[in-house]
Amino acid sequence: MERRVRATPALIQDYVRLFVNRRAYTLQSARPHPDSGRHYYYRPKERGSGAPLHLTEKTVWDHLEGKITIGLYAINPSNQRCKWVAIDADYKNAMEDLVKLQYYLTQDRVDSALEMSRRGGHLWIFLAVPLLARKCRIYIYDLARRLGVPVKESGLAEGIEVFPKHDAIGTGAFGNALRGPLGIHRGADRRFWFYGADYGLEAQMEFLKRLRRVTEEELDRFTAGKELPADIAKLQGEVKPIGELRTGGSRKAFCILDHVGKTRIMGKNYVARCPSCAQVGHDRSGDNLAILVSDRRFYQCWAGCTKEMIRAALGQPIRVQQRA
Ligand SMILES: [Zn+2]
Repeated sequence: MERRVRATPALIQDYVRLFVNRRAYTLQSARPHPDSGRHYYYRPKERGSGAPLHLTEKTVWDHLEGKITIGLYAINPSNQRCKWVAIDADYKNAMEDLVKLQYYLTQDRVDSALEMSRRGGHLWIFLAVPLLARKCRIYIYDLARRLGVPVKESGLAEGIEVFPKHDAIGTGAFGNALRGPLGIHRGADRRFWFYGADYGLEAQMEFLKRLRRVTEEELDRFTAGKELPADIAKLQGEVKPIGELRTGGSRKAFCILDHVGKTRIMGKNYVARCPSCAQVGHDRSGDNLAILVSDRRFYQCWAGCTKEMIRAALGQPIRVQQRA
């Protein structure tokens, strides 16, 4: 075991601000699995009640001081947004690819931090405000494609993995967690630092805080008119349709296309500005709303607006069916 590292309240706050996007988290088992020898991550529960534990400042404190090791989820399901994007690469030429990605990110004026790992590394990008997971993924996959960096999700055995791993997750879902930086990797029994700063908590955090963060306007610009590569989108699954209430008989059925203005077709969907997002000045790039071409009753906002919100924003609230 390495010598003791001390956390401070300021470090904890900085860490939460930078990395924690929701209070659900995972814990790496302190003891290796007897068969595989691996230290697995699990979602911790309260002793006795079995209720899921929520991440607190104390959790981060223990992580930074090396008493526990936590994993952090990228996406917050309440808005489908993330505070960071991390590119995980652990194959033979992983570092080469990560450095290449880092270099080309700087061409967009995007700062990133390269964290060492047991094999390969993690490249972290921080966001000025939480940004849509889907757009973060489009940006990174598009860049990888242009640079010829292999992408695991396209079905390759080896390639980069992007966290967030989903465009959107359902309420009560978690997506995938990634080892929280600056803690101790149980399997390797050591800390993995970021390149570019001294190996100590304070110096590392100061380095991370100085990095320029990607704004919403920038990400919109980087991803304008782009979609996830078809092979990755396919593995993601279709847009989950949200069913409209069945409208009976005489009443003219509501059709979202009558209300959303300009649309374009991408894959199986029409894409348009989400009326509910638009109401609060969001979705300026006009592509949050996906409407299934084959059945226009099915539509979904990638930012997580419910159909009730969308209909209300259109002044066409969903009528509650009364029982006679
Ligand atoms: Zn919306």
